[in-house]
Amino acid sequence: MSTTDKKRIIVQQLIDRFGNEPGIEKVVQKSENYMEAIRDLIEICGDDPNREGLEETPYRVLKAFLEYTEGNREDPKQHLEKVFAVEHDGLIMVKDIEFHSMCEHHFAPFFGVAHIAYIPSEKITGLSKIARMVDGYAKRFQVQERLSNQIVDAMNDVLQPQGAMVVIEAKHMCMCGRGVKKSDAMTVTTATRGVFSKNPDLRKEFMSLLG
Ligand SMILES: [Zn+2]
Repeated sequence: MSTTDKKRIIVQQLIDRFGNEPGIEKVVQKSENYMEAIRDLIEICGDDPNREGLEETPYRVLKAFLEYTEGNREDPKQHLEKVFAVEHDGLIMVKDIEFHSMCEHHFAPFFGVAHIAYIPSEKITGLSKIARMVDGYAKRFQVQERLSNQIVDAMNDVLQPQGAMVVIEAKHMCMCGRGVKKSDAMTVTTATRGVFSKNPDLRKEFMSLLG
């Protein structure tokens, strides 16, 4: 396939993805510039953008980045909006929600699990909805601290619980292959709202349920 054909395919994918939004011509132009920049980056790193393995890399990188940032094109809160009324004032916990995100400082992946607990007032939501919401905030250029806060705020805003808490454990590739090179380092962040902010016993209960 010729370079022109490959470019055409990428452009078509962009139109499929952004076609209904204004400014698609600009997106296509910027994408072409970006693919050229990836070729430059390969050269700066001392390799040959024309060699077989790297020839199609600019297209693949662009496609991958569009996937990494899918969350930018949705409002993750809306996943939670299908709520059920219940009478339950105990703690509800969803553990080990896997996510993949992208560190906004280095454009390197970070990934791990989110654990979410809340104590409802009247509304609860489905577990799969919570997982989708996490995905929506993860799939964008992120830092782990903001991700934690966005998740807990979404729970708090939509479900209006007595309180909510999130713990995220993640591995950052930008700490593995470069810089300090700590490949086992795990970053843990927490965010709390409502009764979880006020009551240390609840935070303890959360942590003990994590085991
Ligand atoms: Zn980083």
